[in-house]
Amino acid sequence: MPLGVPGRHPRFDNGRFSIVLPPAPPGLVPYIAGWSEERLLSCPITRRRGFPGIAYADETPYDRDSFGVLWVRYVLRPKRRRGSPVFRNVHPYRQRRAMLNMMCQVCARMPPDPHGPHLFLLKDSGGPIREGELTTSPPVCVPCAAISIQLCRALHGGRFVAAWARRVPAWGVVGPLHHPRTLQPIPGCAMEQVKYGSEWAPWVRAARTMVELRGVTPADLDREFAALGRDRLEEEFARIAQLTAVA
Ligand SMILES: [Zn+2]
Repeated sequence: MPLGVPGRHPRFDNGRFSIVLPPAPPGLVPYIAGWSEERLLSCPITRRRGFPGIAYADETPYDRDSFGVLWVRYVLRPKRRRGSPVFRNVHPYRQRRAMLNMMCQVCARMPPDPHGPHLFLLKDSGGPIREGELTTSPPVCVPCAAISIQLCRALHGGRFVAAWARRVPAWGVVGPLHHPRTLQPIPGCAMEQVKYGSEWAPWVRAARTMVELRGVTPADLDREFAALGRDRLEEEFARIAQLTAVA
């Protein structure tokens, strides 16, 4: 398999690192993953009083984020009562919490420095992570980057690009849009990107926080993994396996 374009941006292929990565722990479920017993709740939508936009008839302060955008309602359960993992799903509230605190999306570890930089590992869409790039994928810690690369490649055959972002301002949300007249979901607009403060912000039900990556520099994961070393990575993998294993 080719290694991408040397010197342009780092791309990662199977096991092509200076150190041999320890195998990813089996049975690992990322913090933001969805589970079978956690599902979207369908709640009647009404017109918001005093403002343009949608609301829940029995709305509480927990239904909106700090930007005043309405969020989907989703079952949130303690770990032992979540059923089985559904890897293709992302839990909206855990995703939002990870973004808000810049927690690792796999092991939920808080960042060593809340002011950054933060490591982002995104699917390779044909180029490096750009300044100002938007994403709904929360950061990862370095050991979890080593795990994610292995797991996602096994699952999807995916390739990645990685970058450090010094600042990660909230940009908006992703979620279903509702029609301003009928209040019904607009067909074909189930996961639209909506900027905070934009004209559509009152008409979306957020399912993900979307952030903007600023102060971006490409991450040399090979160097990061080598700096930790295989023994330390093994220790970290064991810690992460305990934290994230299905109870
Ligand atoms: Zn982690």
